[in-house]
Amino acid sequence: MCAASPPLAGGAPGADALRPLLDTVLDALRVGAEERGGPLPAGGPEAVAARVEALGAVLPETGTGPHEALRTLVRALAAGAADPAHPLCAAHLHTPPLALAAAADLAASALNPSMDSWDQAPAASALEALVTAALAAEAFPAARHPDALVTTGGTESNQLALLLARERHAGHDRPVRTVVGANAHHSFHRAAWLLGLPAPVTVPTPHGVLEPAALAEALAHTGGPVLVAATAGTTDEGLIDPLPELADVCAAHGAELHVDAAYGGPALLSRTHRHLLDGLDRARTVTVDLHKLGWQPAAAGLLAVRDADDLTVLGHTADYLNADDDTEAGLPDLLGRSLRTTRRPDVLKTAVTLRALGRSGLGALVDACMSLAQDLADLVEKTPGLDLRARPTLTTVLFRPTEADDETVAAIRRTLLAEGRAVLGRAEADGRLWLKATLLNPHATPGDLAQLITLVEGSAHR
Ligand SMILES: *Cc1c(COP(=O)(O)O)cnc(C)c1O
Repeated sequence: MCAASPPLAGGAPGADALRPLLDTVLDALRVGAEERGGPLPAGGPEAVAARVEALGAVLPETGTGPHEALRTLVRALAAGAADPAHPLCAAHLHTPPLALAAAADLAASALNPSMDSWDQAPAASALEALVTAALAAEAFPAARHPDALVTTGGTESNQLALLLARERHAGHDRPVRTVVGANAHHSFHRAAWLLGLPAPVTVPTPHGVLEPAALAEALAHTGGPVLVAATAGTTDEGLIDPLPELADVCAAHGAELHVDAAYGGPALLSRTHRHLLDGLDRARTVTVDLHKLGWQPAAAGLLAVRDADDLTVLGHTADYLNADDDTEAGLPDLLGRSLRTTRRPDVLKTAVTLRALGRSGLGALVDACMSLAQDLADLVEKTPGLDLRARPTLTTVLFRPTEADDETVAAIRRTLLAEGRAVLGRAEADGRLWLKATLLNPHATPGDLAQLITLVEGSAHR
């Protein structure tokens, strides 16, 4: 080995090479977070970009060495982060990852298994098979042979669900039509476009959920094979479509059901709240993200299927990865587990989390965030001058100053962002613009929520 060559992460020597680098990384993370002080950097896009540009050459002729590079860039990224671990960073379904999951992800990077062939990921592929089977059984407890694919998230899962539907109906003289609520995730429209399917039929959702009567009406006017996509945890309001009733309507019209439970799916692990997902198992396919209410660093998506046979259409052969004679000789054929080729072992952090916390530990985290949302709703209701959109179903709370017009609501959000004080989202509901808090931080306290309300009131009156 050349003396100047940087050490590798793998093998027994890799651990010793990583240890001092990790010290540098961890120090830089701490210093950067202290420099930031709040949920995001102050000053807005120009100030942040200027600080990043001031770090110096991206590709210097002579490198600065591992410690300087890690210290400088990790510190800058931490100082300039919108950090979901800060309780006032609550705009999006942007989760604060668990430390144990981030630690597991480091191991995944060090070992770098690639999930496209057994000879690149012997144990990782065996672990993925176990974890996906176990999680599929959570979604479809009564199914004989459920399965799940690991994806990059809800967008890819929804796209795969449409692809599987397209292929199930490939023999039909009309392509499958997707029917979604206006509350559905934007990814269905792109997926249909990408897959060469007709644009989804969009059913209006004036009350934020897909209503059975409105769906029945739409299905009565939609010919050919149909996939209905319901949502369990809408992006704007965190609402759950009435799944059992929608499943009944689908059954009556011979339509198939997909449930996008990217947000709400992990509530399956909460004894207290899993009833919210009754009817989920009547779907043919279910999208779940563990990088939302699952506290995984991205990416940790799943597409669960009620019947593993639905996945056989994804089978694909490339001789260098899964030649027929290798498969016949017993080497697992992994290429049909994804449309990607090189693929990170994202399942490792999930497996570590499931084992470390157990069902009750993860369920307790879900419960903690659910109860924070109720606390925030209570606080809004008690605050004169603030309106609450509705009691929360999951962990999303919409509120607004009573007297404010939409421009003022938008300006409050941007002011808090520019000052680096709070990260709130925005959502339109009921023809008006609302501030949105998406609570995914189980460590947030009632005091944090009170501070959030104070900040909003303060910027509303400026
Ligand atoms: C987050 C989300 C998605 C998109 O998932 P990504 O992981 O961002 O790709 C899709 N649907 C719903 C309901 C979501 O909440």
